[in-house]
Parts: sequence; C-alpha cells; structure tokens
Amino acid sequence: MKDKFCLDLTLKDLTLWCEERGVPKYRASQIYGWLSSGAVTTDEMTNVPKNVRAMLEEDFIFGGFILKDHLVSKLDGTEKFVFALYDGNIIETVAMRYKTGISVCISSQAGCKMGCAFCASAKIEFGRNLSAGELLAQVSVTQKNLGERVRSVVIMGIGEPFDNYDNVMGFIRLANDPDGLNLGARHITLSTCGLVPKIEQFTREGLQVNLAVSLHAPNDELRKQLMPVAKAYSIEQLMKTCKEYTDATNRRVTFEYSLFAGVNDTPKCAAELVKLLKGGLYHVNLIAANKVPGTVFQSASPAKVKQFRDILESGGINATIRREMGSDIMAACGQLRRGTIEASR
Ligand code: SF4
Repeated sequence: MKDKFCLDLTLKDLTLWCEERGVPKYRASQIYGWLSSGAVTTDEMTNVPKNVRAMLEEDFIFGGFILKDHLVSKLDGTEKFVFALYDGNIIETVAMRYKTGISVCISSQAGCKMGCAFCASAKIEFGRNLSAGELLAQVSVTQKNLGERVRSVVIMGIGEPFDNYDNVMGFIRLANDPDGLNLGARHITLSTCGLVPKIEQFTREGLQVNLAVSLHAPNDELRKQLMPVAKAYSIEQLMKTCKEYTDATNRRVTFEYSLFAGVNDTPKCAAELVKLLKGGLYHVNLIAANKVPGTVFQSASPAKVKQFRDILESGGINATIRREMGSDIMAACGQLRRGTIEASR
C-alpha cells in the first residue's frame, strides 16, 4: 500500500527512487522542481515521460489541494484559500499582502486539540496532523495561485505546530532547501500556544526560525479561562522556558496578545504584562482579533488597544499593534474552514 505522500519527498528520496526504478537520475531534479513549484498531480509534470509519471503514481500518493473556496478581502487584498486534502480533510491557508511582500499563514493540522475558547478551529472535530509536504504545499500552491513569490511564512493557521513537532521540523528543512522552495529560516515564524516541553526541544534545535508564543493573558487565572493549555503549564513555567530560549539563541520571542473587549484589555492587565515581560528579549504583538462567530468574544475598541500599547511602551515593553487582516473574509484562523465543513454537513 502506498503510504508516502509525493509532497514529502526530498531530492535525495527522489534520486534513490530513480536509481531503484531504473530512471535516469536527472529526472529526480525535474520531479522535485515540479513538486516545489506547487504541482500536486503528475499531469502537470510536462517534461517527465508518461511511463515515469505512471511509476510515480504507483509508488506515491498524489492529489489533494483541491481548491474548495477562495476569498479576496476588499479591505486589504488578503486572500484566503480553503483546500481539500487527498483524504477529504479540509484546511485553510491565508496570503497577506504587506509592503515588504507576501506572507502566507499556513495550517499545521486539520483541526486543533488545544481548545482555545476564542478560536473557530477548536469548535470542529480534530482531523489529523499534516505531513511536512502538506505544510510546504500550502506555500508552493499559494505561490502558484498568486503568481508571485512568497516572502515569508507564519505557521499560525489551524493547529498547534508543536503538537505535530516532527512534521513541522521536516517542513522547515524542506522549505530551507536551496534546490526547492529556498525559503530562509529567518523568513519563517512558528507560533505556539505554549507547549513548554516542546519549546525546550525547539531551543535545542538551534534554528534561526522566529518563535511566537500566544499569551493572551498576563496571569494564570485569566489565561486558564481562555486557553486550556494554561492548566498544564503555568505562566511561570512558560516564562522560564522562554527566557532559556532567548538566552540560548539570542533571538527574541514575540508574544501574541489578542485583545478582547472587557476580558483582557484593561489597564490592569497591561500593567501586569509589563511586570511579566520586563527585562526580557521580548516583543508583544497586540491584535484586535476578528470576531469569531459562535464565541462570546468581541474585539477590543481601537482606543482600548492604543491605551494598552501605551501602557506597555511606557513600561519599557516593545509592542506593535497588528493590523486586522481580512476581517471581511473571516481570515482569523479556522473560521472559513469551519464554515466550509458546516456547509457540507
Ligand atoms: S488558537 Fe491556535 S492553538 Fe488555540 S485552538 Fe485555535 S488553532 Fe489551536
């Protein structure tokens, strides 16, 4: 039975395969070139002979990445793609346009087990982990659809990347490959909800990838209400691990903090956050989150967001207010996937 997905193949894998199958070695580069540029079927591999394509199909799983929905924001040009995978699982990928270029937000799992109270992905049954190649294809297929090179990738879509650790590391290796996508580690950001042992493991990898941690609350009591992961790991444990990460790598950690009206947007919360982060190699992204249907959470007002930022900055904490992207196309993680799955029921 075929168990290897075509998009997970490295150039080395394909070279070995060519040897085993008696196919000239240079075909490996051709096939790898197609896969890296977003081909998900052998039909697209026009310079590869039909008999070689048939052999590939005999040995590997092809298909998937069927575009189920594509929305473009009228507000800021953000594009959202909903893909069906080869086994019917649904994922989504978002392309955001910045002055510096296109950034693609990819999913790491079909669904998520973390259960954050404010998140659409938590409301739908978990599907499965995505393979390294399925993470990569979200970038290469989006690049192909847009007809433009992607400048950076954030692993911040559906799923918890550290709950799919090995495949996410495999993706980073594939994305870095100069013969493939050739995307530098510094152009990749990995966002975790705070799985402490995995942050420790990630620290030991010594990668140049940017690390973001979803914090969303300055104390355990409030964080536990928003994020079940806070019941497993206290903020004290999380901060200790982040400090170890910055000490070992000399790279800063970005804390994501979504502001919800009347929940975590008060001056008291801002002052607590200052205390928590003071003196660390940290940055805070303040996000006025998109409204998620089916949750009680409302976005904080622009005035509250600005007040929160001012308190952080006067306390010596670097903070940036992130633009809300694609609010007219349900661009927050998991929203459109949830809509697609519910519509098909
Ligand atoms: S916010 Fe992220 S970690 Fe939390 S449930 Fe949603 S996808 Fe999972």
